[in-house]
Amino acid sequence: MTELLYMNDCYTKEFEAEVIKVDGKFVVLDKTAFYPKGGGQPTDTGKLIRGNEEFKVVFAKKTGSDVSHEVDKEGLKVGDKVKGVLDWDRRYLLMRNHTAAHILCEVIHKATGALITGNQLDIDKSRIDFSLENFDRDALAGYAEKANEVIQKDLPVRIYTMPREEAFKIPSITKLANVLPPAVKKLRIVEIEGFDTQADGGTHVKSTKEVGKLIIINAENKGKNNRRIYYKLS
Ligand SMILES: [Zn+2]
Repeated sequence: MTELLYMNDCYTKEFEAEVIKVDGKFVVLDKTAFYPKGGGQPTDTGKLIRGNEEFKVVFAKKTGSDVSHEVDKEGLKVGDKVKGVLDWDRRYLLMRNHTAAHILCEVIHKATGALITGNQLDIDKSRIDFSLENFDRDALAGYAEKANEVIQKDLPVRIYTMPREEAFKIPSITKLANVLPPAVKKLRIVEIEGFDTQADGGTHVKSTKEVGKLIIINAENKGKNNRRIYYKLS
């Protein structure tokens, strides 16, 4: 089982850990700050350092309660002590894009009642799918403007856990989240103070101003009841 350091602190850039499983280039650590691809957020990359030897982390994925790190070469062994270092520029951009997604989703949800049916974050542009029959294209510029107003307010973004039953009393708590396994008793909550509260396992910045400026690139129809928005940050 891997302890997920990013769940409590999204700003952990480096950490010490021990190798607990190895299968060729796939390495499991007792703890990690590498975010494993999931929930629309891409994998973190970076490196694992043993002594003066470096193993590039090219991919991280969840396998049960483990995080498996795919490295560029074999050689790590069970019991090895390693230092993990994230490719921080990439991760930080993803944190900004992820937090931007919350803000844009809530702006559009408030305006239209639409739910989020999918999302894919990336470093150059991200997309969100909404369950909407029609897009009011004239309204798009307004959504971006509203989102940027929220960003400029520099609202704190808080992360904490809450019992499942209590969390589900919050309106639209799972608006953005993927389906949660029923076994989960405690939910991780991401709250943009006074604006939005979500159950969510991803990484986020700690205040909205860190997002920067949100720009809507374009919008597409993706079948009945599915509208897709692309945005980027500057
Ligand atoms: Zn999130």
